[in-house]
Amino acid sequence: MSSQGCIFCKIIAGEIPSSKVYEDDMCIAFNDLHPQAPTHILIVPREHIASLDEATDDHRPLLGHLLFCAAKLAREKGFSENGYRLVINTNDAGGQTIFHIHVHLLGGRQFIFPPG
Ligand code: AMP
Ligand code: ZN
Repeated sequence: MSSQGCIFCKIIAGEIPSSKVYEDDMCIAFNDLHPQAPTHILIVPREHIASLDEATDDHRPLLGHLLFCAAKLAREKGFSENGYRLVINTNDAGGQTIFHIHVHLLGGRQFIFPPG
């Protein structure tokens, strides 16, 4: 899918509303519409990259930045010491439904492994 018609590109452009919790020059973070934990935040790069499978060598710093922001948000939310879960669903079998790469930050409850 291209950036045209991408729901996360529309959120980044301010064309559809979101509950934003963080933003910088590379990414934004907002609450998931259907939270799967007491805290469920999506960290999304401003650049449209369809999935982790589409990331190139040039995206290495950006990918690191997304993880760094997730860790920072977890600390701010107060559950980093207790623990949390990061998820990057990738392509169909990985359970990805929105094809603009994003990191799920889930916290505030106990998680089991492996996930379903
Ligand atoms: P994934 O299945 O990994 O592609 O995750 C997509 C996530 O986006 C799901 O957890 C959805 O609940 C979430 N989602 C879909 N539409 C919106 C929206 N408009 N605002 C916030 N989260 C959304
Ligand atoms: Zn997009």
